[in-house]
Amino acid sequence: MPKIPVKVVTWDEVVEWSTRLAETIKEDKYQPDVIIAIARGGLVPARIVADVLGVMDVLSIKVEHWVETASHTPQAKVKYAYRLDLSGKKTLIVDDITDTGDSVELAKKYVSENFSPAVIKTATMQYIKPVAKVKPDYVASIVEDWTWFMYPWNYWEDEINLVRKLMNEGVKTEELEKKFLESYGVKPPVPLQKILQEMKRRDLLS
Ligand code: AMP
Repeated sequence: MPKIPVKVVTWDEVVEWSTRLAETIKEDKYQPDVIIAIARGGLVPARIVADVLGVMDVLSIKVEHWVETASHTPQAKVKYAYRLDLSGKKTLIVDDITDTGDSVELAKKYVSENFSPAVIKTATMQYIKPVAKVKPDYVASIVEDWTWFMYPWNYWEDEINLVRKLMNEGVKTEELEKKFLESYGVKPPVPLQKILQEMKRRDLLS
């Protein structure tokens, strides 16, 4: 068993799941006036959902919770807080995944208190059923076993963090390829040589 089960997500899967999410929303006859993407994970799914539903107004709030791959801070927080008058508007909050559910829950409370819309619904592509404290109104896929989803907008960040975890355990550069597969159950989508070069550029290698 890998130490952290990872699924490498393709762009095609993102399009498929986001489209399915939008179709579920259509079937429910919910037509939001404004879509609010939780940055950064919800940005791409929100934009696709907006396209499929024909929604022109897409906003964003930045929620911080999982600052490092597969490790999260105790509390989710909104960074760059602002207020907005959305009274009378139907809104849809979109994120990539509901893991603990803290981000979606916080975003909902924040939007309610600071944007005052008429309706708030929530949607995420993935929903990790055994660990999530809340279930969004709409989900595209239910995950039964906890997995780290390596979304295509996060390949570099995730790989750097996963490589750092291995290096902190004493894995040498020449063993990285093998240990990455052993520990995470997948081949790295970006060649490790490039990741190491980038880590050097960011001053992350000692
Ligand atoms: P949470 O507040 O725990 O529901 O998750 C907050 C955010 O962290 C999500 O919107 C993702 O961007 C990221 N995240 C959390 N868990 C995972 C996971 N298992 N796979 C990929 N990204 C995740």
